[in-house]
Amino acid sequence: MKFCPHCGGLMVPAGHRDGKIVFRCTRCGYEEVIESGEEKDYTIVGTTPKEERTITTLRVSEAKRKPPKTLEEWEQEREEYREILQELLQEELEGTEE
Ligand SMILES: [Zn+2]
Repeated sequence: MKFCPHCGGLMVPAGHRDGKIVFRCTRCGYEEVIESGEEKDYTIVGTTPKEERTITTLRVSEAKRKPPKTLEEWEQEREEYREILQELLQEELEGTEE
């Protein structure tokens, strides 16, 4: 929102001039030319950071959340553990046989 420096009236975009935006006072007709780049920065600051923050938070929580182990995965892990134990046991038995 822009206000007229002369009368304090509300200034509204009245058109473009040389790639710039012309704001005109609704009360006294005073005109002010604003760089269109400036105007873009203005709108970006107002809207984007909030959205970006939400996306980042979502990504972080998704990365942190590990999928729970399925029963098959547990079973497989137990099987592997049993194989190692059996190998160790066999080695020990073979060692004491002599
Ligand atoms: Zn004015």
